[in-house]
Amino acid sequence: MEPRRMYVDGKWVEAVSGGVRTVYNPASGEPLATVADGDALDADRAVRAARRAFDEPGWSDRPAAERARLLFKLADLIEEQAEGLARLDTLNCGKPIREARYDAADAAGCCRYYAGLVTKPLGQTYAVPDGSVAMVVREPIGVAAQIIPWNYPLLMAAWKLAPALAAGNTCVLKPSEHTPLSALRLAELIEEVGFPPGVVNIVLGDGPRLGAPLAAHPQLDKVAFTGGTATGRSIMKAAAEGIKKVSLELGGKSPNIVFADCDLEPTVEYAMFGIFAGSGQVCSAGSRLLLEESIADRFLDRLVARSSRIKLGPGLNEDTEMGPLITPQHWNRVDGYVRWGLEEGADLVLGGQRPDDPALAGGNFYAPTIFARTRSDMKVVQEEIFGPVLVVQTFKDEDEAVRLANDTVYGLAGAVQTTDLAKAHRVIRRLRAGITWINTYHPTYNEAPWGGYKQSGIGRELGTFGLEAYTEIKQININMTPGPLGWYAG
Ligand code: NAD
Repeated sequence: MEPRRMYVDGKWVEAVSGGVRTVYNPASGEPLATVADGDALDADRAVRAARRAFDEPGWSDRPAAERARLLFKLADLIEEQAEGLARLDTLNCGKPIREARYDAADAAGCCRYYAGLVTKPLGQTYAVPDGSVAMVVREPIGVAAQIIPWNYPLLMAAWKLAPALAAGNTCVLKPSEHTPLSALRLAELIEEVGFPPGVVNIVLGDGPRLGAPLAAHPQLDKVAFTGGTATGRSIMKAAAEGIKKVSLELGGKSPNIVFADCDLEPTVEYAMFGIFAGSGQVCSAGSRLLLEESIADRFLDRLVARSSRIKLGPGLNEDTEMGPLITPQHWNRVDGYVRWGLEEGADLVLGGQRPDDPALAGGNFYAPTIFARTRSDMKVVQEEIFGPVLVVQTFKDEDEAVRLANDTVYGLAGAVQTTDLAKAHRVIRRLRAGITWINTYHPTYNEAPWGGYKQSGIGRELGTFGLEAYTEIKQININMTPGPLGWYAG
């Protein structure tokens, strides 16, 4: 089969070097497709195309309503093609089809949200003392490189492209080398909508050979990155050279705090959803469960019993509740953490291995895994495992819960489960995290800002904040009574 090509300057092109790579189905280990595999030359070609599309009169000067019209059309096409897009993500990244369908619906919603938002008031005017008119306008930043991970291939592409395009930027999007297929389908829809050539470019390749030179490209104005914290650090260094704007959405190790007065059965399910949705390969996963001592045993018993019944399988099976991990290498990484946990003395109460079912042997499946009796000084408590591995700690009171919850370098998400709303509010305000929930876990909304405190990132995506992140702020001062200044005598 012909390798799938990249989308650059409105054309479908091979890698400059002619390189190709195979992408796999993580549920079976079988090859799914071959795709172009680019490097610095492809980054350069795409950034130049995006630069031209931005600098020449065209995209950014179009009225906002016109850019919005194209984004509305893209939202409609994503919706029409949602099932096919969802199946591509399920095949390529392994997530259960019911999760992928949510992602496709959310991706359409994201385009629609920003199409609507960009025509709403964005600027400000000021009452200044000398009778001048002072105002602030928002303008596009310019050319944005957008580098995304493999866990939400379609949705992350939409989160990046929709606000950037709405604001009038041009984009070079790099999907993960493991999961390029839905982004390529999205590029076909972008072409069908009729975005001008060079406004959206989708380049394919891995991090070191393509992502790094892309992030460092001198003609960029902004780098927006979602992925691991170590990669984020290197992207920030690359961006520092040209003082590029950066947005970083990075890793997490988020606490889910359960008080004794919670409604037990729903809370058990929130905890399961928090860690096992996406097989735990979710940046905001509730990967640390903090239980109030007086209910810890009872809660853990229910959690283990219900988690042991989670149905693993290929994501295309409608009854699958949890899919595989992305690659065999990632499987080894997750399993390595589990071995570490055992060495550190954590108490493995569920999983910690491949599931028994021989039908799953070809895929990268990992059983739902729970460690009880963990401590804050353990590696499995401090580091992001990015797999279906939950670590459990107990606490005596609110103060201890907050202290444990905040005791990592991350600050992406967190949740509090209690029927006492005043307590929930007190505790949530003390969490050093950007995305929080009370009496639930995980729902996200295009309307609300997404991003982290501490080493979980810089900036926010989504909501009005997400549009602002793709704009420069310009002040314009107008002298309403031009005449001599009278400052110089001569
Ligand atoms: P990763 O950092 O390995 O890769 C992410 C992207 O960066 C990929 O496209 C990759 O090719 C590219 N990349 C890798 N090295 C690069 C380099 N040196 N320069 C430029 N680009 C490079 O992350 P991953 O394994 O794909 O995804 C998992 C990570 O993503 C987890 O840490 C997770 O927490 C994080 N994540 C965060 C969010 C969020 O919103 N905060 C969302 C999803 C995933």
